[in-house]
Amino acid sequence: MRNVVIVGSGCAGNTAAIYTARASLNPLVAAGHEPGGQLSLTTLVENFPGFPEGINGPDLVENIKKQAQSFGAEYVSGSVTEADLSSRPFRLNIEGQRVETRTVIIASGASARWLGLESEQKLIGHGVSSCATCDGFFYRGKKIMVVGGGDSAMEEASFLTRFGSEVAIVHRRDEFRASKIMLDRARANPKIKFLTSTVVEEVYDAGKGVVTGVKLRNLKTGEIRDREVDGFFLTIGHIPNTKVFRGQIELDADGYIVSHGGARTSVQGVFHAGDVQDRVYRQAITAAAAGCMAAVEAERFLEAEGH
Ligand code: NAP
Repeated sequence: MRNVVIVGSGCAGNTAAIYTARASLNPLVAAGHEPGGQLSLTTLVENFPGFPEGINGPDLVENIKKQAQSFGAEYVSGSVTEADLSSRPFRLNIEGQRVETRTVIIASGASARWLGLESEQKLIGHGVSSCATCDGFFYRGKKIMVVGGGDSAMEEASFLTRFGSEVAIVHRRDEFRASKIMLDRARANPKIKFLTSTVVEEVYDAGKGVVTGVKLRNLKTGEIRDREVDGFFLTIGHIPNTKVFRGQIELDADGYIVSHGGARTSVQGVFHAGDVQDRVYRQAITAAAAGCMAAVEAERFLEAEGH
């Protein structure tokens, strides 16, 4: 019987592991299908407090994990494939390993949706990014492309005009999902160009290991052309990793955990941390803070129950 199982090993999960391990709760962390979470997909992180020179995303998340392990946190690879949160102790299946636990901290994150092109996948962290706040700064005076037609695309494109010499929004339709106000704001920005009814067929240049351009196809005319790009940003949505908890805790229409105050979910003893609940901030520092909150709540919950 565990006191706490933490689902996910990104910034939120690893920080929850530090706190619960230091509280002698001997946490077990299920590392998940993307160990290290979103940070493992980035390069330099310059906005995490305490690193004046910046730190590589994978190093940052690995350091937090090491810190947790130094206090006794245990890590197992693999994802939670089954969960029974209907009664306590909660029961989890971590890829064949069955675990019973008094509390669960769900820090399984939200995965960025990608186009799925081979060239795009090879260049993640080398010009391909899913986070303008994280990586926009690296494209000062450069050519930036944003893919998507929702509020995130408009917001991130507007933000990226602070850095780029131009920002092109590529959207697969003529109509936009974005709210009128956000769309109007982007349209009024002279640095933003719209390429509608257009899809990206390839990101160049996987051979060089850096983004140099894209191949575009106009869906109406069939015209194919290349365009020079330095920073390629995907804003086509995120998918919260909550499938395994569906029907067991309250989720919103998009699958994000609904908070019941602090780090609490609809089930007593189950807590949330990080992007699995947060569709707004999605930063390493807010995820780390949420991991701390969930750990403190789990600790108090166990104490109140006499453990
Ligand atoms: P979204 O509204 O789901 O929009 C995703 C966009 O990506 C859509 O335009 C979609 O195209 C496109 N897309 C999806 N898959 C694609 C693919 N494989 N290839 C090309 N394009 C693809 O996601 P979001 O913009 O991240 O917004 C999510 C939620 O957060 C929304 O409720 C939004 O209002 C909210 N949000 C609010 C703010 C704000 O108010 N400040 C800022 C950001 C987000 P189609 O339209 O053709 O499907």
